Amino acid sequence: MEKGKIVIANWKMNPTTQKEAGRLLDSLKEIKKEKEVEIVICPPFPYLNLVKDKFILGAQNCFSENKGAYTGEVSPLMLKDMNCQYVLLGHSERKKHFNETDQSINLKLKAALKARLKPVLCVGEETRDSFDHEGRSVNEMSLIIREQVEKALIDISEERIRDIVFAYEPVWAISTEESDNPCSSDDAMKAALFIRKILTQLYNREVAEKARIIYGGSVKSRNASDYLQEAGMDGVLVGSASLNASEFIKIVEKAGQ
Ligand code: PEP
Repeated sequence: MEKGKIVIANWKMNPTTQKEAGRLLDSLKEIKKEKEVEIVICPPFPYLNLVKDKFILGAQNCFSENKGAYTGEVSPLMLKDMNCQYVLLGHSERKKHFNETDQSINLKLKAALKARLKPVLCVGEETRDSFDHEGRSVNEMSLIIREQVEKALIDISEERIRDIVFAYEPVWAISTEESDNPCSSDDAMKAALFIRKILTQLYNREVAEKARIIYGGSVKSRNASDYLQEAGMDGVLVGSASLNASEFIKIVEKAGQ
């Protein structure tokens, strides 16, 4: 089945002022909105309002409760009310700096789905140590991804699973300039196939085939086609390159090809 591609910008904790965020958005006006490409911007919470009417809106996180005495948290209902359609969940930086666990991610995922948000569930192995020059030690990658996917999806029904976008983000490939293509398109494709295999086992083949699986980890304009076309990913999650308007515009163009 042919699906349009999705390009998701994760601005992380950038930029530091509204003025700069506004400037970045102005530069993105030049994006030719390709019919088949869904462009989602996930800014920091204070800038949601700025992005809201210009692009499909995503958030970078949410809490697992809808309201109450949870100082500093943002609820899925609030995001929905702000017109957010997507929310990133389980990002490796949240696990590393804020101790998110498979269990807390599962709770957030359920809350986000209940609020009718589309979660972008990030999964990926942490180190490349398990890889040698001859290729990937598939066991390591598969054990970790299986555990993350299975635990995140506990008690999530077949109906709801369709709203989840799965982002394969090998942690070792995030924010690196080390090579043109830190994770090969072949490895990205293997990981996507592996996620589909898990979904077949947990649900069924139809769910697995229809699931949107995207790649994230140092996607730039120079390597975007490797993932979007060569590896056949359903889209890309773009971190640092999404802060550079001309880079991001080129990535969107690649997704439309
Ligand atoms: C990310 O952190 O989700 C990401 C993809 O970052 P980068 O593109 O900078 O590697």
